Amino acid sequence: MAAETPRDFSFKSEAVTLGNRRHPETMLARLFRLHGLLVASHPWEVIVGTLTLTVCLVSMNNLATSSQMCTWNKCPKVEEKVDSSDVIILTITRCMAIVYIYFQFKNLRQLGSKYILGIAGLFTMFSSFVFSTVVIHFFGKELMGLNEALPFFLLLTDLSKACALAKFALSSNSQEEVRENISQGMAILGPTFTLDALVECLVIGIGTMSGVPQLEIMCSFGCLSVLANYVVFMTFFPACVSLVLELSRESREGRPIWQLSHFAHVLAEEEDNKPNPVTQRVKVIMSLSLALVHAHTRLAAEHPGHNRSMEGPIAKRLDSGGAMWPLKLTSMDLEQVITLGLALLLAVKYVFFEQTETESSLSLMSPIISSLPSQKPKLAEDCCRRGFPAPKPQATVNGTLATNPTSPAVSVSKLSPEAGTAFGETEVTQPPAASGENGLCVSGFGDSFAPTTRVPHSSCNSETRPLEECMAILSDPQRGARFLSNKEVMNLVTSRNIPSYQLEAVLETPERGVAIRREMLSPKLPVLSALASLPYKDYDYSKVMGTCCENVIGYMPVPVGVAGPLLLDEKRFYIPMATTEGCLVASTNRGCRALSLSGGCRSRILADSMTRGPVVRLPSACRAAEVKVWLETSDGFGVIKEVFDQTSRFARLEKLTVGLAGRNLYIRFQSQTGDAMGMNMLSKGTEQALHRLRQQYPDVEVLSVSGNYCTDKKSAAINWILGRGKSAVCEASIPANVVREVLKSSAASLVDLNINKNLVGSAMAGSIGGFNAHAANIVAAIYIACGQDPAQTVGSSNCITLMEPAGPEGEDLYISCTMPSIELGTVGGGTNLAPQQACLQMLGVHGTSSDQPGDNARQLARVVCATVLAGELSLMAALAAGHLVKSHMAHNRSKTNLSETP
Ligand code: NAP
Repeated sequence: MAAETPRDFSFKSEAVTLGNRRHPETMLARLFRLHGLLVASHPWEVIVGTLTLTVCLVSMNNLATSSQMCTWNKCPKVEEKVDSSDVIILTITRCMAIVYIYFQFKNLRQLGSKYILGIAGLFTMFSSFVFSTVVIHFFGKELMGLNEALPFFLLLTDLSKACALAKFALSSNSQEEVRENISQGMAILGPTFTLDALVECLVIGIGTMSGVPQLEIMCSFGCLSVLANYVVFMTFFPACVSLVLELSRESREGRPIWQLSHFAHVLAEEEDNKPNPVTQRVKVIMSLSLALVHAHTRLAAEHPGHNRSMEGPIAKRLDSGGAMWPLKLTSMDLEQVITLGLALLLAVKYVFFEQTETESSLSLMSPIISSLPSQKPKLAEDCCRRGFPAPKPQATVNGTLATNPTSPAVSVSKLSPEAGTAFGETEVTQPPAASGENGLCVSGFGDSFAPTTRVPHSSCNSETRPLEECMAILSDPQRGARFLSNKEVMNLVTSRNIPSYQLEAVLETPERGVAIRREMLSPKLPVLSALASLPYKDYDYSKVMGTCCENVIGYMPVPVGVAGPLLLDEKRFYIPMATTEGCLVASTNRGCRALSLSGGCRSRILADSMTRGPVVRLPSACRAAEVKVWLETSDGFGVIKEVFDQTSRFARLEKLTVGLAGRNLYIRFQSQTGDAMGMNMLSKGTEQALHRLRQQYPDVEVLSVSGNYCTDKKSAAINWILGRGKSAVCEASIPANVVREVLKSSAASLVDLNINKNLVGSAMAGSIGGFNAHAANIVAAIYIACGQDPAQTVGSSNCITLMEPAGPEGEDLYISCTMPSIELGTVGGGTNLAPQQACLQMLGVHGTSSDQPGDNARQLARVVCATVLAGELSLMAALAAGHLVKSHMAHNRSKTNLSETP
């Protein structure tokens, strides 16, 4: 365990380590753990059992119930004397209870999980169900006090423990972990919850002996409410959490969709979740004394003349005179109106306005907050109290915080110069580390910057610890970066103890690294809130790190459209296209429709080999010519090939094309690359081959592994003539009626336009490989969707589009697209990212092909070529019919920009 790096600090191992090190598990905790495991492993049994028991209680009660059954909102009017002061007190109590529940849910919402909210709602509803069932069962006809007990029942609903348990479950990576974590949560929370329930019952139970009738009723209901909460928490609730999470698992890949990265360290809270031993002892002693008091009083109550049973006050109330009942009726109506009104108001506020508040404050405040050090204590304090991510305060000019979260946020560009000075190059101003409840520290400012990260109490004040201490914590395998606040991490970056580019690797989650990088970058940008709309959360950075991108600050969502079906070689394909150009997908789709109605298109792969062209220098041109001759002999080629082929399971050297300029040699290595696009593969092989060449000719000087003779990502005739990657051709015959009805054109005008635009026009422009209308449009959109290297659109969109009149009358259209250098793959690079993989899966070409290595990549190249053909058909038809500008004005022109024009 000690050898684990901070990053590898796994959830489970930490729990064990922390648990064993400081809090050896007690017998009691083990008992609760076993109970938790049992309940979480058999959720169906527990749920059905609990429900059956509850229903049994109801049906038992049905034998005894009468027309006087109460519901929560409706209770038969009972003739009893109620003072108006009572009514006022009851109304206030009910309102307080509603507000209390509202704040509980509001706090939960800040965790940002619909699961937590749903689970909390589930807990509340079922607790109230069990509670009312039990009450109905025990009190039968005498339920008139139920209305009065309602507020107390709500006040006794403790969502925090239920949510703590849910958080344990939600931090799991698999269903097995869900069970383990629930049992772990139960071991930690169970004993405390049991003791708390006991103490609450005994304390509230004292009220049942008070002799004040209404108080006695309410306290009885209070006790029942606590018991109902307890029973639900121990049985139905963990079973439900386990079941809900199992059912919401992503069916395909078995990954949990609920997994919340910022809860991933919830077990780090283990120690703090553990009750304070002093408090525990006080509770135990208190409950023992209270138990004695209860025992004594109950025994005394059995004595004649001291009847203080629970029926007493109720009976008294039943007997009480009804002189005041009309007054009661009116006042109770008013009370109900107030209570109901408040509940509705808060519900509407919660449902419709909370989200907006959260979003607006999130989007605007993140960069501003770091410039406002004067507000740290207040934020920290508030955060500590609630144990949730710190609130997102609003800033105003001159750095003062607006406390009203709904007040309009000030545009960042209007911040005063004083505020601006806080964003200096070297000075790092960060959000305060705020301590949370149970001694945990909540660092960062919630959603806008960092995931909620909890660190131990010692760093909970806003003061940062010295660099040396932070470094010691960082390099300690038992603690690591998550024990540092964001501010401390940023100080380590500024002092170059952590290289900025390594933030993701050093921190416990890559997302926190990204968040901190954004936080450090924002103050240096011309617009402080520039990053607010660039998303970074809930992204699998593990696939990005070391492969796809460095210094990550987020990800760019691009709309993905679908064109198709495209009928290609008797198969139907739906083409994913990522683009922001309006009309492109629609136009391609029209081309696909025309092809489908024409019996589809046919394609062939002409060649498949990636290239790398290094430049080497020799002492003289003659010496260079000697080397060229040797490389072109079968001996020379064989020597180089032997070395090259050893560098990959897929790369097999096919050809060397050697060019000479003075004493420089340009050697174009050409090889198949399986399903990979192959640039890295070729580079690796080429490097080794050059090493071997230097052994043969020690006077060879390698100038660069790439001498632009490849040619990669630049327009070049060599790719157009010799090909690069996959060379493909695709053709189709479109009947006259399809040309007329779908493309709204004629074969003659399309052929004429193709000659004069795509052939003569491009020749006039001196184009290389650009003898087409818009192949690059389709190539780029598919490349972005399918995780290809988008820069390779340059060479990959080399295409010549040819059109001829066809058919007996010459009214049909024959069209072909020839693309000699499609550089793509279905393995490696961006194809490893999940959304890009999804698009490859749409085409059935994801990853390594099962039959022949390279089949998937070649199939993708055919799809690209055929989609280009569809795009060519449609655009050429639109141009011939004069529709292009019209449709772009309708579907592509930004309304926003237009409306902003003065
Ligand atoms: P790569 O991910 O670097 O290499 C492919 C890897 O997948 C190899 O390790 C290969 O095994 C393995 N593999 C497993 N199954 C395979 C299969 N069926 N077919 C082929 N390989 C398979 O991918 P690459 O295509 O060579 O390089 C793509 C990356 O290069 C992209 O990220 C691109 O942006 C980048 N790029 C680099 C340059 C450059 O100059 N280096 C230029 C442009 C783009 P083996 O180890 O046995 O080969």
